[in-house]
Amino acid sequence: MKTAQRLLSDALIQEKVIEAIGKIFCDREPHAQELLTKALNSETDELARDILDDIIDNAALAREERLPLCQDTGLLVVFARLGVDVRLEICLRDTLEQAAAIAWQKYYMRDSIAPDPLRGQLDECEDIRSESDARLPIVLHLEQVPGDGLSLDLALKGGGAENMSALRMFNPSAKVEEIVEFVVDTVVNAGGRPCPPVIVGVGIGGDFELSAILAKRALFTDSDERGTCYRELEKDILRRINERGRGVMGLAGRNTALEVRILTAPCHIASLPVAVNLDCHAHRHIRVEI
Ligand code: SF4
Repeated sequence: MKTAQRLLSDALIQEKVIEAIGKIFCDREPHAQELLTKALNSETDELARDILDDIIDNAALAREERLPLCQDTGLLVVFARLGVDVRLEICLRDTLEQAAAIAWQKYYMRDSIAPDPLRGQLDECEDIRSESDARLPIVLHLEQVPGDGLSLDLALKGGGAENMSALRMFNPSAKVEEIVEFVVDTVVNAGGRPCPPVIVGVGIGGDFELSAILAKRALFTDSDERGTCYRELEKDILRRINERGRGVMGLAGRNTALEVRILTAPCHIASLPVAVNLDCHAHRHIRVEI
């Protein structure tokens, strides 16, 4: 027997997404806020404590005044889980890109998107540069799941942290120690550029592109969603990053990273891809369930 489909209107989804962007553009995710407070309480270096204080004060002001938490208001990244019993009026990407364009205007957010990634260096690409501003390009990962709901994990991802991502195709015989060194070196060598303290997403397995998606997805997860298997490894990597002493904003102290989050997937016996994706202290993430 065929189940009745639940209709989710374009207007309802847009309303929820605009409201969610309105929360995170000026307020980081509560768990990240707790981690920053914990970092401040554990920090002994005076300069690092001053900077952490400023980061926390800046967030309080942004929340109060409803001003962007950071001048880089980011690129909207969405992990969507769409129930098979949901019917949409229009394609989800169209809805989300229209909602993003409205939110960016409504909250006076900086438009950080270059329609042509080569910024007009090739004359042939003029068409790309003249796109309508009724939509704002986003990054969308869409998965179908059982049920009649729509779950959207949204993030405003800044360029500074994103630029410090790394991916390596390891030999499948690689030891865990080599992977740990790769992750630790990636974070430490990034210095102040990803605006530490950072949250470190690690994707192990899958293939080339899936490992990168896992690393990004890991930034959206809490420990329950990641299971217990890699918890000790996460703690070990976090300890080793912070022991290397790059510190807050790459300047001082012991708090280079707040958390390490690992997601894994099965992979080909001939491969072992590992990806690292960083998120800065702004960590503007939210989940919307419709
Ligand atoms: S990395 Fe984050 S905190 Fe730093 S400038 Fe970019 S968005 Fe802002």
